[in-house]
Amino acid sequence: MTLFEKIAAKVIPAKILAEGDDWIAFRDIAPQAPVHFLIVPKRCIPRINEAAPSDAALLGTLFAAAASTARQEGLGESGYRIVINNGPDGGETVPHLHLHVIGGRQMTWPPG
Ligand code: AMP
Repeated sequence: MTLFEKIAAKVIPAKILAEGDDWIAFRDIAPQAPVHFLIVPKRCIPRINEAAPSDAALLGTLFAAAASTARQEGLGESGYRIVINNGPDGGETVPHLHLHVIGGRQMTWPPG
């Protein structure tokens, strides 16, 4: 099981914000902004580069979950950023697809 599969199975604790049949939202353990949470599919896709056409519905569900959880966290008006890190150059550290949702401060561009 991946770390995030263990969190989804409640084997490892996390600060869970919301959950659906096939996804879970929980706070990042090392927040990079006042609000920083992850949207994780319960079924492991290692990274977006390995997503298949048959994963399209699940990927759409993850983005809808990111937006609904962001609104729940009070970011709907102020805005937020959604980030997916893919592979070594992308800064991926956990090989289980996840969307970072980051907000509560002004984001900068370009990203680091
Ligand atoms: P990435 O570097 O894009 O693969 O993102 C992995 C994220 O998972 C990082 O932002 C970590 O801080 C976060 N993370 C690692 N372990 C945990 C955990 N046990 N609970 C919550 N977030 C975690």
